[in-house]
Amino acid sequence: MSINALLNGSRGRMGQAIAAAAAEAGVILCASLDADDAVADHIDACDVIIDFSSHRATEALLELALAHKKPIVIGTTGHSAEEKTRLLGLAQQVPCVWAGNFSIGVNLLFALTRRASAILGSDYDIEVVEMHHRFKKDAPSGTAARLLEIIMEERKLTAAALRHGREGITGERKPTEIGIHALRGGDVVGDHTVMFAAMGERLELTHKASDRGVFARGSLRAAQWLVGRKAGLYDMQDVLGLQ
Ligand code: NAD
Repeated sequence: MSINALLNGSRGRMGQAIAAAAAEAGVILCASLDADDAVADHIDACDVIIDFSSHRATEALLELALAHKKPIVIGTTGHSAEEKTRLLGLAQQVPCVWAGNFSIGVNLLFALTRRASAILGSDYDIEVVEMHHRFKKDAPSGTAARLLEIIMEERKLTAAALRHGREGITGERKPTEIGIHALRGGDVVGDHTVMFAAMGERLELTHKASDRGVFARGSLRAAQWLVGRKAGLYDMQDVLGLQ
């Protein structure tokens, strides 16, 4: 079935990847908007909104989705903790798929990370390393943030356990630390590794994206899945049936 989507952030890298993949996914882009375009003028014609823009745009977009009763797929990352709290309240009132990463491989990485964190006890130190292209504006990535949430849930830790990079006289690593390191350079689309390091062995789970098309196709699949659903906050695990 063909659906009409309003794309926000259309001039960006992801916006262009979505435009390239839309037709094959049965999605007609009835409006392709970027900064300074008025979303409200185009919203009634669409079945669903797809947003890959800036964290600053999300709140107004969710309010419009709510006012016009439109489902929304949010791919944008980089929201602060306060922004996220406000947005979650709004996102539950409309049909909303919100995912820090729309690739199938990464969603399996989420599931594998949960399992490994549960099986490997606290004598396995966990460090997360991500690398992205030199133009990325936020760190750590939304995907790394989700990996950290999963690890914290399984290890029953809070954000106080996170150690962003290390420098100087750090002292010995605490067993309750979770290290997070963001590398930036070149044109890397998105690499994520979760390391479980113990005395005598190390397990590394790594995903490498080489083409933005994987995120674009995933977000279009999410848009197709979302149209006609009841209000609620969903993620890619729901779309792929991995829950
Ligand atoms: P980009 O910088 O190439 O593009 C962002 C676009 O959004 C630009 O064209 C910019 O002009 C536009 N924009 C900025 N503010 C806007 C506003 N208020 N309204 C409308 N448009 C606005 O970035 P990108 O690489 O395309 O990534 C976009 C977002 O998607 C980032 O937050 C990125 O981290 C995220 N992302 C998510 C996934 C995922 O799978 N969830 C994958 C890749 C990127």
